[in-house]
Amino acid sequence: MSALDAILPVYRRSDVLIVRGDGAYLYDDSGKAYLDFAAGIAVNALGHNHPATQAALLGQASQLWHCANMYRNAPLEALAEHIVAASGFAKGVFFCSSGAEANEAAIKFIRRIMKLRGTPERYRIITIKGGFHGRTMACISASGELRAVDGYAPLLDGFDHAPFGDFEALEALVNGHTAGVMLEPVQGEGGVHVHSVEYLRALRALCDKHGLLLLLDEVQCGMGRTGTLFTYQESGIAPDLVTVAKGLGNGFPVGACLANAEVAKYLTPGCHGSTFGGNPMAMAVGLAVLKEIEKAGFLENVKRCGEEFLVGLEALVKKFPQHLKAARGKGLMLGLETHISAYSLMDTMRGNGLMSAAAGDKVVRLLPPLIITSEHIKEALMVIDKTLENWNI
Ligand SMILES: *Cc1c(COP(=O)(O)O)cnc(C)c1O
Repeated sequence: MSALDAILPVYRRSDVLIVRGDGAYLYDDSGKAYLDFAAGIAVNALGHNHPATQAALLGQASQLWHCANMYRNAPLEALAEHIVAASGFAKGVFFCSSGAEANEAAIKFIRRIMKLRGTPERYRIITIKGGFHGRTMACISASGELRAVDGYAPLLDGFDHAPFGDFEALEALVNGHTAGVMLEPVQGEGGVHVHSVEYLRALRALCDKHGLLLLLDEVQCGMGRTGTLFTYQESGIAPDLVTVAKGLGNGFPVGACLANAEVAKYLTPGCHGSTFGGNPMAMAVGLAVLKEIEKAGFLENVKRCGEEFLVGLEALVKKFPQHLKAARGKGLMLGLETHISAYSLMDTMRGNGLMSAAAGDKVVRLLPPLIITSEHIKEALMVIDKTLENWNI
């Protein structure tokens, strides 16, 4: 029996044993380097071992680890104030430790508002097919995807699923029971599908027309990944609720649910909570990450690198039409749709020194740290090119 047998087998885990990370690279126990274009599934926004997050975590670790939410703590107040201001729409933020928890909070808040407004029959939330919102019962019910819900019935009632990108079909689902609309501005696990700016604006108008709350799950696409701090900022709309997690902690567990003044109005002590939410170490790291992303040139680099990378990927799609079907995405959230098995491609590229993340068996996601340069992109394109040149299955 190996130590691996002691881990419940819910993951498709490769044999590579990672021991160290530095910048855009991971290193295994043999010293082999991998260009990390998975970034822990869009988590290591600043790469590995970033001096700003190192300093924030180590500094806070020597002061205070945890005091729960019975008292004030300065890192919590600092990050809350900062992220609320940066959001441009929020009145307040609730912190937790993961993306699923942030979505749970948002879903609960939507139901609560409708109840306290005197319309408890409005509890249903429209979500988008192919969406992913996390692994709790509410989050898998929201997603409705078979691979996530199989075996877990009965699901939580109250979610209606609209086809991706079809505004009329979504509008047709709105009825007297509808409370809100929940979606990822860019679907991640579903295969990197970008909702257009026009679609997001149309949803905002629809929500206004029917008094619905618009909840954007930016757990994967937020925190600078698509070229703006939050993806919705490109469209100019103001959502009612936004959830973030992954990139915010750069690897330290943290999640956040941002809400506007209308939502905040209905929240009172005891209506929701989290033991670890607002943990000073998570807050110190989150603030350090946010400040890095806000530095001059950071988001411009994401946009520039994203464009360069997408052009390079599109050239590879042309060069290998028998292996690749399409390249798409926004900023540094890119997907390569394959004819061959995405898992096989990901595994073979890893052997050749490039980490990526599959999204089902037909899309390889490329989610590099946001601090990469043109040199890293050239290196990644070379590995993909070489891998497909030698593909013989
Ligand atoms: C990863 C992810 C989640 C879930 O986050 P966890 O931290 O794993 O709970 C939710 N929504 C989206 C869009 C995600 O990509």
